Amino acid sequence: MIQDFEAKLNEYARLLVEVGLNVQPGQTPSIESDVEYAQLTRLCVSACYDRGARDVVVNYRDDFTVQEQYLRADAAVFDEYPSYLKARYDWCLEQKCPRLSLTGSDPELLKGVEPARIQARRRASGPATRPYFDALTANKFQWCVGAYPTQVWAEKVFPDKKGEDAMDALWDAIFSVCRITGDGRAVERWKEFAAATAKRVKLLNDYQFQSLRYTNSLGTDLTVRLPENHVWGGANDHTPDGVEFMPNIPTEEIFTAPRWDGVDGRVYAALPLAMDGNLVKDFYLDFKDGRIVDVHAGEGEQFLRQAIDTDEGSHYLGEVALVPYDSPIRNTGILFYETLFDENASCHLAFGEAYPSCVKGGEDMSEEEQKAAGLNRSDTHVDFMVGTRDLSIVGTTHDGREIPVFVNGNFAF
Ligand code: ZN
Ligand code: ZN
Repeated sequence: MIQDFEAKLNEYARLLVEVGLNVQPGQTPSIESDVEYAQLTRLCVSACYDRGARDVVVNYRDDFTVQEQYLRADAAVFDEYPSYLKARYDWCLEQKCPRLSLTGSDPELLKGVEPARIQARRRASGPATRPYFDALTANKFQWCVGAYPTQVWAEKVFPDKKGEDAMDALWDAIFSVCRITGDGRAVERWKEFAAATAKRVKLLNDYQFQSLRYTNSLGTDLTVRLPENHVWGGANDHTPDGVEFMPNIPTEEIFTAPRWDGVDGRVYAALPLAMDGNLVKDFYLDFKDGRIVDVHAGEGEQFLRQAIDTDEGSHYLGEVALVPYDSPIRNTGILFYETLFDENASCHLAFGEAYPSCVKGGEDMSEEEQKAAGLNRSDTHVDFMVGTRDLSIVGTTHDGREIPVFVNGNFAF
């Protein structure tokens, strides 16, 4: 049993709705959830109405049904994306519904599924949902991703615990990294964190580094050029109307986009990468003029190669993110097998889509203009961890000054 569980769960729901989505009176939030998370979902629904929501739309999915479909449905099903699903995305886009998505999926859900099916679904859903997710990544409406433990997930994270014990351990870990103590003050704590992060973001934006050079004892030596007028972001983001929201809870990162054609050298992963239920371990990527030209993994190399082969843009980087090695998530020492947490454990990079907001005016550029500005375009976005205890990152300014950004795995300022 977790002490004060109900108080903590309620504090969590308020955090997701008040800081994550920052629901405004008259809005219609949409909540993407799983049937297993009804308890948290219901608290979130109430919290939305408490904030003056006009209506709240909940879309429940079910992991079991998803798995059965991937394993047993007609193969042709994955080649097309159903129009009724597309219509729902189009409606939410039209209404600018703030989107809360709760994740806690079984990390092994798609294990044993033919990779061709996963790839076909990704290719079919990509273009159909593109307008919606383009608007989301451009922050046209508020959105937030939060997590909920499931038993399969909990037992994967804590292999020496079973059932309720594993669930309790994962809940404890989630509450702790979300700064939830049961005193009802998580909302205030995250507002303070957002303000502190905003100061660091401003410093980085003022430097306008031409490039960042990563080195560590694993053998990483990577130079990443940054686009002209790049914008660093972290903790809070805002809509065109100036409504602030926190896209990820928890979050520890400060991020921007690299120039898609400006990455050279080799980077080693610092942690394993969980992909569709498969683990990729001990890998490195080689870059030339931005393109991934070689990949090597000690384990699971084919899954990494498949993801890089999703489309043309997935051969290039779309995100550069800075996270102190001494972050609350890293300090738990837990591998969560879930990007939302693991990406906040360490500095990371992502291949695939860049956030348009990472270049000044990027949200209003056409696809061609975004590419010309340096922003990568892809239907995928895969984060992988590169931050180690001894990671050094040196920024070079346009007038040639070299400024330490990371020293021994942590911010130099
Ligand atoms: Zn990130
Ligand atoms: Zn990312």
